[in-house]
Amino acid sequence: MTPSPQSKSQPASLPSSKPRILTGDTPTGTLHLGHWVGSVKRRVELQTTHECYFLIANMHAFTTRAEHAADIRRDSIEIVRDYLAMGIDPKLSAIFLQSEVPAIAELTFLFAMLLPFNRVMRNPTLKDEIKIKNLGETYSFGFPLYAVGQTADILAFRPTGVPVGEDQVPHLEMTREVARRFNQIFCGVSEHAEDADHEKLGGTFPIPHADVGAVGRLMGIDGVNKMSKSLGNAIFIADPPKEVQKKVGKIFTGRKTLTEPGDINNSLFQYVDAFILDPARVAELKDRYARGDNLGDGHVKQEVADALNQLLEPMRERRRPYEGNDDAIIDILRDGCVRANRVAEETLAMVKDAAKLSYFPRRLTLG
Ligand code: ATP
Ligand code: MG
Repeated sequence: MTPSPQSKSQPASLPSSKPRILTGDTPTGTLHLGHWVGSVKRRVELQTTHECYFLIANMHAFTTRAEHAADIRRDSIEIVRDYLAMGIDPKLSAIFLQSEVPAIAELTFLFAMLLPFNRVMRNPTLKDEIKIKNLGETYSFGFPLYAVGQTADILAFRPTGVPVGEDQVPHLEMTREVARRFNQIFCGVSEHAEDADHEKLGGTFPIPHADVGAVGRLMGIDGVNKMSKSLGNAIFIADPPKEVQKKVGKIFTGRKTLTEPGDINNSLFQYVDAFILDPARVAELKDRYARGDNLGDGHVKQEVADALNQLLEPMRERRRPYEGNDDAIIDILRDGCVRANRVAEETLAMVKDAAKLSYFPRRLTLG
């Protein structure tokens, strides 16, 4: 690959007429139903109308799993299989590895200078993760740095929208702050400028918005935390039908009898709302459950498990040709990295121009 970043702020490639989106996932495990409803379903919907970049945040996985490099590699490949299973089409969307796009690391370093240290440490998602993942006082320096890195992941692609779950909104807010600050101090955009006007006024970055999916925060089967790869409370996209059934059976509601009025705001009913497609059936289940009309958790769970298996079956079908075929996945990643580097190098050249860091053009090749 030979992208041709330019020393002036000219796009290296013809800009697509489609708006651009970027989002991604960390290979701390494989993808689950939370990813589907929070972000991936939206990505699939946007694939034909947007220029799409989907990043495997493999460097960020080292923040909590540095001693498990082989697992990070395995999960990076598995996540691509999950993407393909869920309907992401690598011809339409670039799927790429964070570690193979050096501009992201370079932008992280520069953006770290634009964010006050205390601002990063106040990020509520970071604070939650430290607590929920039991990171205590011993987390790496790289752990809070990942929040800065995520601003670079996003801005390297100058996207207008970022399809994410609710927990990522604070990261997006920080990203918007970095973009505004960069545009103000290096591009002369007024601090009073409206977000929508930044590019028009000469700013390098658009101010991207969070595009939160239909269910911004799907609860895990423990009924306590959000469904998460790292917390042992997830139903995975690759789970076989029996495993799905077993896990749904474990969703905790605390209800004791069929005739006691049930709480339709419990975790089980979040699954009813999210996955049972017939609105009339959803309304009927809610009505009977709320009245304690002989409708047990077991029955509702069976309907949820059936609905989930109906959703997952075509995904299992789509995954099959890629099972055990790592070479096909590596090819998809190589192609995605070429496409991602083209845009990220272009952004880096624009950033260097604006920040007076541009001395001569550079070329990047990927064999
Ligand atoms: P980890 O436990 O390692 O943090 P995770 O399960 O939270 O993993 P991420 O890779 O951090 O997954 O998140 C990838 C994307 O999926 C983000 O946009 C995030 O908001 C979204 N997401 C993750 N879990 C959920 C969930 N339970 N509900 C809705 N969206 C989710
Ligand atoms: Mg997470």
